[in-house]
Amino acid sequence: MKAHDGMYIDGAWRPAAGRDTIAVVNPADEQVIAEVPAGGAEDVDAAVRAARAALPAWAATAPAERAARIAALRDVLVARKEEIAETVTAELGAPLPFSQAVHAGVPILVAGSYAGLAASYAFEEKVGNSTVYAEPVGVVGAITPWNYPLHQIVAKVAPALAAGCTIVLKPAEDTPLTAQLFAEAVHEAGVPAGVFNLVTGLGPVAGQALAEHEGVDLVSFTGSTAVGRKIGATAGAAVKRVALELGGKSANVILPSADLAKAVGVGVANVMGNSGQTCSAWTRMLVHTSQYDEAVALAAEAAAKYGDRIGPLVNAKQHARVRGYIEKGVAQGARLVAGGPEAPREQGYFVSPTVFADVTPEMTVAQEEIFGPVVSLIRYEDEDDALRIANGTVYGLAGAVWAGDEAEAVAFARRMDTGQVDINGGRFNPLAPFGGYKQSGVGRELGSHGLAEYLQTKSLQF
Ligand code: NAD
Repeated sequence: MKAHDGMYIDGAWRPAAGRDTIAVVNPADEQVIAEVPAGGAEDVDAAVRAARAALPAWAATAPAERAARIAALRDVLVARKEEIAETVTAELGAPLPFSQAVHAGVPILVAGSYAGLAASYAFEEKVGNSTVYAEPVGVVGAITPWNYPLHQIVAKVAPALAAGCTIVLKPAEDTPLTAQLFAEAVHEAGVPAGVFNLVTGLGPVAGQALAEHEGVDLVSFTGSTAVGRKIGATAGAAVKRVALELGGKSANVILPSADLAKAVGVGVANVMGNSGQTCSAWTRMLVHTSQYDEAVALAAEAAAKYGDRIGPLVNAKQHARVRGYIEKGVAQGARLVAGGPEAPREQGYFVSPTVFADVTPEMTVAQEEIFGPVVSLIRYEDEDDALRIANGTVYGLAGAVWAGDEAEAVAFARRMDTGQVDINGGRFNPLAPFGGYKQSGVGRELGSHGLAEYLQTKSLQF
């Protein structure tokens, strides 16, 4: 596949300081499809300097002009939608229709939403005898994961551009080609040189150098809780702003009055999409004891229907990790009713759609983020029991509640310790804030709440 052999810094592709490279592998057939440079501290420093130099002019640009650049960026993403989908499929392994609809489709919606918000946001507000200005926080260091490679970039870069910030992006090492394509799109959209910069590289090298750089004012990170904790500590020591989107172990709570078949079917589909590599996936299905056996049968049937239709996991490490979790579930007494730890194909990092029954809340598969196509069905006795189980992990990113009566579902959702809940299925809203309670993170992405992360306020008193 086409790849740049440099970094996108100050409006041009420039050679990396060192000679290290990263091999990009197609997880469906384990073939190397491209190589990109593995940047280091020197590349990060050059990118941060470019971002700093570009900051005053971009921060002073009228919001309408920033909105026009983001709208142009959205248009480039629309024009190159097919290429984006093919690139994500090649380096992440997602089936092409899923890449078209979700991996390319969602970032277009999000970029569009920020073109609108940049134009309409109240960057200046009268409060009594004061004027309050929302000013850009400065240079943003964005560190993104591989599971939604373009969405997670756009969810940081679009609001940062809208706010008037400049950016250095360090994308995941597994999916750098999508990030390079995005840099081309930014360039084509006419975003001024230095406003957006890309450094590909390894997390503990380029990622860490970016998080530690004193020229970065805000670190926005999406990824594992372990790395997030480290980045939070680094930012805390330097007293710099930080936004963290971390893991999840979300509960799909099916109340007895719900349409059970629909709730189970949509619930299984929610986990299988992207092969379970979704931080907000509803990986724990909570079912009333009176409906439990029926739900188990429905879930097993729904998972079996997926058969071969889900993509592989992203890499060999995740492949081993997810299968290890399935083995642990079996060892701890959970009952496999679909799938299992055996790799279904000789080539590619595939895992079968897996359903566990007889899962108890303290089991590892009910507590830790597996990041694979694995659903755990847990039984509850009454609503308080369901709530205790739903809230009984260190995470609180997303969730779902199903009930015959919407008000009943809303009442339950309001008691959940989690940042986003879908009621009777819900529908994606690019303007709704997304982010975690508890150890799922700090801060919010998307919509005006996501924009506010990139702003700091100044008040003038009269
Ligand atoms: P990770 O946290 O290691 O990687 C995420 C990003 O952080 C990548 O760009 C990586 O290069 C960078 N990074 C890694 N170490 C760093 C460091 N020391 N300093 C700065 N940046 C660093 O995640 P992973 O290893 O790819 O996946 C492991 C697990 O993390 C998964 O199984 C899953 O549970 C979780 N995960 C969650 C999300 C999410 O959306 N919340 C995304 C990816 C992975």
